[in-house]
Amino acid sequence: RLISPAPLSPQEEVLERALRPKALQEYVGQKKAREQLEIFIEAARKRGEALDHVLLFGPPGLGKTTLAHIIAREMGVNLRQTSGPVLERAGDLAALLTNLEPNDVLFIDEIHRLSPVVEEILYPALEDFQIDIMIGEGPAARSVKLDLPPFTLVGATTRAGMLTNPLRDRFGIVARLEFYTPEELKQIVMRSGRLLNVELSPEGALEIARRSRGTPRIANRLLRRVRDYAEVRASGRVTPEVADAALTMLDVDKVGLDTMDRKLLSAVLEKFGGGPVGLDNLAAAIGEAPDTIEDVLEPFLIQQGYLMRTPRGRVATRLSYMHFGLAAPGGTLE
Ligand code: ADP
Repeated sequence: RLISPAPLSPQEEVLERALRPKALQEYVGQKKAREQLEIFIEAARKRGEALDHVLLFGPPGLGKTTLAHIIAREMGVNLRQTSGPVLERAGDLAALLTNLEPNDVLFIDEIHRLSPVVEEILYPALEDFQIDIMIGEGPAARSVKLDLPPFTLVGATTRAGMLTNPLRDRFGIVARLEFYTPEELKQIVMRSGRLLNVELSPEGALEIARRSRGTPRIANRLLRRVRDYAEVRASGRVTPEVADAALTMLDVDKVGLDTMDRKLLSAVLEKFGGGPVGLDNLAAAIGEAPDTIEDVLEPFLIQQGYLMRTPRGRVATRLSYMHFGLAAPGGTLE
């Protein structure tokens, strides 16, 4: 699956790490988030304080983890990384928190999936740098307050709406990551090409960029597949023609939609008469989890104007009909 939200294999994870920009200066795009962070990081550093807690949200692969690492590096502190589902018990989080050094960054990916007991521990930690932990069991159990060093929590989530209000309110800095433009992705592909020693023309890079669903992770993934194709079927140089041939072979169409995107849209168009169709019905029709549809597939299709979310369900737009060479019935949404 090309648009799989997570790295596909341990090898890919290693490569991703190698391609990750390390400084804010190298981080392409996301002007708004970058500017905010530049200012707040500099101010916190000058005062020698921990940066305010940061919430990053946006679809998978847009650079949340990368940004968390950059924040720690720019602040000159360590980063400890974990994720919502991994922290099962209160003690798991307490152990992490009590091992932090002053001003460190604690990065919690998928923070919307924290269990309520863990979240409870987190509130006083975020607010007063203190935690209450229970020692012992039964009648002898007692609660002990522990002081923590000041630290910065960087939380990442695909949807800010999934966070509980009290948790969301504790972040001083909230940055929403947007899909990248083809020009921005072209810069990312060119940079990755240099790092991976791929012979790549600027037009070839742009062709990959235009077909990467606005997402750096996908752009880097496609670059590697296109490189393989170029080495085996062409002279090794990635030109627009070679990129096009490779991407067509991978079932990535001219506008960058892949098999799953087209499956979803064609289900809305053909099985549900263009919609509105509810999320669960749509999920059952294409055999995908509702979460995957909401987190991975839909955001890009909506942003590009193929699909709309209405109170009664998902509706295909005129652009969707056109994409599949179908005539849109009267009254179809633009
Ligand atoms: P997320 O945590 O949002 O799922 P990541 O931070 O893991 O996404 O990003 C995936 C890959 O995309 C990274 O390995 C990195 O190489 C690349 N990437 C992400 N954002 C940028 C960016 N702004 N500039 C350059 N490369 C980026």
